[in-house]
Amino acid sequence: MVDLKSQYNFIQDEVQTELLKVLETTSFINGPAVKDFQVNLEKYLGVKHVIPCANGTDALQIALMGLELQPGDEVITADFTFAATVEVISLLKLKPVLIDVDPQTFNLDPTRIEAAITSKTKAIIPVHLFGQAADMDTINAIAARYNLFVVEDNAQGIGARYTNKKGEKTMTGTLGHIAATSFFPSKNLGAYGDGGAIFTNDDDLAHFIRGIVNHGMYERYYHDVVGVNSRLDSMQAAILNIKLKYLDFYNERRKEAAIRYSQLLSNHPNIITPYRDAVCDSHVFHQYTLRIVNADRDALVNYLQDHQIPCGVYYPVPLHRQKAYEDPEVNEANFPVTNQLVKEVISLPMHSELMLDQIEFITEKVLSFLNSN
Ligand SMILES: *Cc1c(COP(=O)(O)O)cnc(C)c1O
Repeated sequence: MVDLKSQYNFIQDEVQTELLKVLETTSFINGPAVKDFQVNLEKYLGVKHVIPCANGTDALQIALMGLELQPGDEVITADFTFAATVEVISLLKLKPVLIDVDPQTFNLDPTRIEAAITSKTKAIIPVHLFGQAADMDTINAIAARYNLFVVEDNAQGIGARYTNKKGEKTMTGTLGHIAATSFFPSKNLGAYGDGGAIFTNDDDLAHFIRGIVNHGMYERYYHDVVGVNSRLDSMQAAILNIKLKYLDFYNERRKEAAIRYSQLLSNHPNIITPYRDAVCDSHVFHQYTLRIVNADRDALVNYLQDHQIPCGVYYPVPLHRQKAYEDPEVNEANFPVTNQLVKEVISLPMHSELMLDQIEFITEKVLSFLNSN
């Protein structure tokens, strides 16, 4: 699904030089590389504060801790996403309120938010799923009307530029009150291990969160709040600092691959190719995900695997049907889109090193399966 080896070969010399520097300085935690990366990412995103941490799940949890929500407070998020988003809500004894997604973008459907709001609702977490920016204008407008926080899960969307109603472009992750991202190796900006970060333009919130990630300390050995220990190490920061320079290039390559895939696949009656806007700035194709309609998606998965073509089903089970998050009062009728998508989605190989002949080979196999079944 990804080709981290070819990507590494391209930046190998830079990576080795920078890693050796970290080894020489022996400043493995909170060294200069972490600060450099933080500042460079703040500049890239156009955001006032980046707070690095250990992984994307921590970033989400710490972002919610920063908002000081109380047990029982409700947080609205999408039914169709990776479980980390709802996991941290539950861990903090908050109540996840899952809503259905938009069939075109796979993102939280803003027309369903208001019906889910109660007196206990405190926050909305839109996920920029598969790299496609969520409808932030509408989500932010609803949040403002009901006085809710907006926490962006930008783990799959880093580098995407959201175009608002006025035509202005803004990086995803800087559009809500606070955002979380992941530097898991296969993400668009991936480390060679775990990493994550929190973004915000709010000075007070940033200060509060810098303490939370460090055991609730604002002054050494004085613990003002219950925090956590969540750090990005210097080696990962050094690698991320190099890869950040190439992020737009990597995302551009993904976009080119996606456009080529869609050209080759768009005219088939059993295939719905991913939605993208005219300029395609709002999508960084963390995944290239098709809907297979009126055909056997699972048989296609097996067929591709038999032909040594990696593919993935993200995600096969809606969150509202996961054992850990089951709500006995759930109404299946509220989730028509997610319930359909889990049967139809298939993600094809997508990365910045994908070659045209590979794309042609993959699409030929997809089409030959659909045409013979
Ligand atoms: C990857 C991911 C996370 C979690 O990130 P980790 O670094 O693996 O903890 C959270 N949300 C989404 C949408 C993700 O894709």
